[in-house]
Amino acid sequence: MGSPHACTDPHHHVHDARGFVAAVERACGERGLRLTAIRARVLGLIAQAGQPIKAYDLLDKVRAGEGAGAAAPPTVYRALDFLLANGFIHKLESINAFVACHHPDSAQHSVPFLICNRCHSATELEDASIVATLDAAARALGFAPQAQTLEVHGLCAKCAIAERP
Ligand SMILES: [Zn+2]
Ligand SMILES: [Zn+2]
Repeated sequence: MGSPHACTDPHHHVHDARGFVAAVERACGERGLRLTAIRARVLGLIAQAGQPIKAYDLLDKVRAGEGAGAAAPPTVYRALDFLLANGFIHKLESINAFVACHHPDSAQHSVPFLICNRCHSATELEDASIVATLDAAARALGFAPQAQTLEVHGLCAKCAIAERP
């Protein structure tokens, strides 16, 4: 898969899908979770995509692969639920797509995303203070926050330069 990465920080991309799946497999072992064949396959496809991928594209890719018999849509959706619940992937609500979490060792976390409207790259904005600020502001209003979805759309550094007249 040679889709070009257009991220400013190379560490924000899961470049090596195989290595990524292996890392998640290790994390699963440590946490007593089971990375079944279909879960590993779905995870590998998301990592390979190199940018957010929609569920129906994922279903197509799973179907195109070998052992397709076991990959009915509900099976794939259950695999996605598992990967989401354990923080191995993120769902980007604004574009309804999935992206691999580039630090699979940490548990499920809230993280703001920067999403490029031109090349569709998605970058985790690792700044815990943003999450903490939102959390504190919500609590100050007596609101008990359970999850945060913060997605910033715009142009990544590369695309911003490319778009400059
Ligand atoms: Zn993450
Ligand atoms: Zn871009």
